[in-house]
Amino acid sequence: MNNTFDFKWLKSQINIQQVLSAYQLDGRLKEKNDTLYGPCPLHGGNNPTAFRVELNRGLWHCFTHCGGGDIVELVRHIENSSYPQAARSLYRLVGPKNVIHPGATCSSPQKSFVPFTHKLILNPNVSFLQKEKNISVDTAIHHQVGIASHSRFLRDMVAVRLHDLLGNPIGYCGRRLHPEDIEKWGKWRFPQNLPKSSLLFNAHRAKPYRQNGIILVECPWAAIRFAQAGIKNTVALLGTSLAPDQIQWIIASPSVLLILDNDPAGQKAATQIALTLKTYTKTIIHKLSDVLEPEDLSDDQLRSIANNYSFF
Ligand SMILES: [Zn+2]
Repeated sequence: MNNTFDFKWLKSQINIQQVLSAYQLDGRLKEKNDTLYGPCPLHGGNNPTAFRVELNRGLWHCFTHCGGGDIVELVRHIENSSYPQAARSLYRLVGPKNVIHPGATCSSPQKSFVPFTHKLILNPNVSFLQKEKNISVDTAIHHQVGIASHSRFLRDMVAVRLHDLLGNPIGYCGRRLHPEDIEKWGKWRFPQNLPKSSLLFNAHRAKPYRQNGIILVECPWAAIRFAQAGIKNTVALLGTSLAPDQIQWIIASPSVLLILDNDPAGQKAATQIALTLKTYTKTIIHKLSDVLEPEDLSDDQLRSIANNYSFF
């Protein structure tokens, strides 16, 4: 640990939103034009405009009585601590390798996930994408999916680039193509210790549209296909369960349209997820008819689903 308490360095390593999230204080805050606002999470209360965070400047302010300042003042206030103690807490949040782990909290040990930030050269001309998923070459390039011929980890798979909720690239997952591989290991390969429950595929691309409502799907292909159809506010769970970091990101939206796969597992998950989300935000389940997955539909059909829900 660095004992000189380099606050400037700390502030370059972690932003105010991550600090609020790590202390689970952002659940009731709404985002608008690079500002978070809501009831003050420090003193409680219900005044919906008492607390305000300027994300660009990394500053917070409670207009009732908590005062305000930067992330150091925030941690001091949360912990009622001294500057050295606040610095130690921030060092813990930043982590031993100066890596910000999505979903890190001050109390849980750091997972040993190491982000892979290098950009791979991907071949977007893949019959699986164009024929089975109706994903055009342009769309594949835009979403950074394709065959990574030089990667051993992604051999015989279609690679999908992943980002954390803030849009930092963290590596690639792979969709296996050979039936015998799928039977043996499942469809998807994820990097070791990937904090899957802290991710939403496409979150950083969907975020600018989040205030208009979001569509929540199971797998990347569905999110990519909605985007190809011009519906850019779609994120994928990379599975069928919902974790706190994902909930926090999702409920910043005023409404959620849930479109999970049309199989027993998908429908069961949709009911559970809707139950969780509807405490916080307007949630609607759209049940697919006739097809198994959203990507089985045409771009026109996807658009008409989204347009049917007038809140989008
Ligand atoms: Zn306050």
